Amino acid sequence: MAEKRYLLTPGPTPVPPEVLAVLAEPMIHHRARDFKGIYERSLARLREVYRTANDVLLFTASGTGAFEAAVANLTSPGDRVLVVSAGNFGERWAALTRAYGADVVHVRLEWGETPDPEDLRSALAEAGDVRVVYLVHSETSTGVVADVQALAAVAKDAGALVVVDAVSSLGAVPLETDAWGIDVVVSGSQKALMCPPGLAFDSVSDAALEQAARATSPRYVFDWERTRKAQAKLDAPFTPAVSLVKALDVALGLLLEEGLEAAFDRHARLGRACREGVKAMGLQLFSPDEDRSAVVTAIRAPDGVDSGDVVSSLRDRLGITIAGGQGDLKGKIFRIGHIGWFDVFDITTALAGVELVLADAGADIERGVAVTRALEAYESHATV
Ligand code: PLP
Repeated sequence: MAEKRYLLTPGPTPVPPEVLAVLAEPMIHHRARDFKGIYERSLARLREVYRTANDVLLFTASGTGAFEAAVANLTSPGDRVLVVSAGNFGERWAALTRAYGADVVHVRLEWGETPDPEDLRSALAEAGDVRVVYLVHSETSTGVVADVQALAAVAKDAGALVVVDAVSSLGAVPLETDAWGIDVVVSGSQKALMCPPGLAFDSVSDAALEQAARATSPRYVFDWERTRKAQAKLDAPFTPAVSLVKALDVALGLLLEEGLEAAFDRHARLGRACREGVKAMGLQLFSPDEDRSAVVTAIRAPDGVDSGDVVSSLRDRLGITIAGGQGDLKGKIFRIGHIGWFDVFDITTALAGVELVLADAGADIERGVAVTRALEAYESHATV
């Protein structure tokens, strides 16, 4: 039989057939009227998913491109900024802001910790005049989803702009750009938005645009003002990834048809199903055992087992792709993603595969209970 593959990572994620179908349509020109309609609808749908009245600027890049856009547009060399990190993507904010010459106050937590708003308040008081606070909503490397509403409120109290990495959280867990006063929300296409990789987004508040007008770092492709002016005329400054924009339009249509609240509820139940199945097997969670942790479940490899071997056995023997650990967590944890076009049978597939592979590796795990427990947990009432 032809090989069947299961993509169960926190990005890229599986793409629904309706979205794949538009990718195969004949090319259209990005300055033609038929594209403009699609572009306009995609941008409007993005604003709806972001829950913002601000512009959402669209770039042809991976999510990190939108990170770079935020930093390039907001930074003048020497500006004091504060970065909260507790994993790989928080550390990316620190590296990028340093690359642009910012004076970086780095609140560096252990990977896997959950940032505490009161710690941020103290760090801001100690740091003095901080222009921008950079946060991560869903730290995909650890499975922690931070309380960015509370963190953003603290940063605002200190008079700073707030930039949030929502690459793996947008569309999966609640995020209120305007209601929570977030100046810049950074995201990408290949996670909960159910598209292939290649599009990146920054929502930009008026205050962020004002700071960008004063900031002196060089930028061209990622220049917010150039992009904003062009988008206002439904004209991209450069050739956009036309097919991906068409795919985004369809994918966001599917997400909004489901309803954001329904999607958040589904993700919370998927996370719960995954955690309960993992625990039933006797494995230990690395990510928090809480409903907010609905993006990716990180699991400690049992003693004597390298998590990289779990990942490669699943892929090579069973056609199941999950993610390993990053940085110091390499070899120690493996991660099952559950964002975007996922249902509970994706979770049970992952759990059954993990069970098989670990049992064959001689790990001491409970057989035959994970799938049943996951299915039960999926049906239980969500509390997020
Ligand atoms: N931030 C988070 C939380 C992510 O999960 C990712 C994805 O890998 C990124 C940033 C970087 O996005 P990309 O790999 O699309 O550049």
